[in-house]
Amino acid sequence: MTIANCLEALGHRLPPGVTLLAVSKGQSPEDVEQAYAAGQRRFGESRLQEAEPKIRALRQRCPGLEWHFIGQLQANKVRPVARAFVWIHSLDRLGLAQRLDRIAGDEGCCPQVLLQVKLRPDPNKVGFSPEQVTSQLPMLMHLSHLKLRGLMTMAPLGLEREQLHRLFSDCRQLAQQLRSHLPSAVARDFNQLSMGMSRDWPQAVAAGSTIVRIGSDIFGSR
Ligand SMILES: *Cc1c(COP(=O)(O)O)cnc(C)c1O
Repeated sequence: MTIANCLEALGHRLPPGVTLLAVSKGQSPEDVEQAYAAGQRRFGESRLQEAEPKIRALRQRCPGLEWHFIGQLQANKVRPVARAFVWIHSLDRLGLAQRLDRIAGDEGCCPQVLLQVKLRPDPNKVGFSPEQVTSQLPMLMHLSHLKLRGLMTMAPLGLEREQLHRLFSDCRQLAQQLRSHLPSAVARDFNQLSMGMSRDWPQAVAAGSTIVRIGSDIFGSR
């Protein structure tokens, strides 16, 4: 199947209102261009070093691209990430959020951010625990250069369907709880759940995901 065919097939299967983020890590600028030609505008990258030249190369050729950072964010990469990406899905701790807020203020930008949460023990994943994100929310919501949009989570490997559904539902419930503590102006846009990748997006969508991050189901394996 071509990239365009895969995008079309996904477009038919995703319910309306669910945003498809095409994860282009490990793919060439030409692959992104093919997806662009098929109408895809939102792309996710997880490594700054790989993304920067790709984003630069495509700026002229593909106007209107929207880049989302989905990888683990290192403190010393915050400034270039804030410059290159308009969405950050992987804000995983308070200190990093405070740093991003300061830098966004400097740079005159206002990134759309998702708080990455870790709902099950997983040594390979980062993220706020539910307790941390709940207790730190009052500080997070006052970071005026960040646009808090919701939560992101990743499932550990090896869960059964039923467990996946429960995990993603827990994430949705946590987001609802947090939202109820936000002032209404912030709560209004705290409405996104970035959940689901190629192997588990149907379970994530069934549990209320609003953004699926899909790489290999579009571009083939990396
Ligand atoms: C790579 C990656 C994806 C996409 O994974 P696929 O299995 O290729 O769909 C989604 N989210 C994050 C955070 C990733 O790093």
